[in-house]
Amino acid sequence: MTMIDTDENRTAKAVAALARAGQWLKVRDASGRALAYGIESASRPGVYHFATARQCTCEDAQRGHHCWHARAVSLHLAALRCQRREVATAA
Ligand SMILES: [Zn+2]
Repeated sequence: MTMIDTDENRTAKAVAALARAGQWLKVRDASGRALAYGIESASRPGVYHFATARQCTCEDAQRGHHCWHARAVSLHLAALRCQRREVATAA
């Protein structure tokens, strides 16, 4: 479990980015499973950072931070797990 720090600006940006999760690029393996997501840079439109829940190709992550891209992916995956559980319960 991950605690959400609402005073952390990276978390706020991650939550805001979730509304655009449908537009993220998806890096898939041969079975179609998403390995990483390509998320457009907030400061440089047209530049994409590739993120998993824990890692990202952006500068902030290279400096050792859990950047907003990776936080957004983490929240997105948690939401997908939740939706799958709801579907399984309804079936
Ligand atoms: Zn990042």
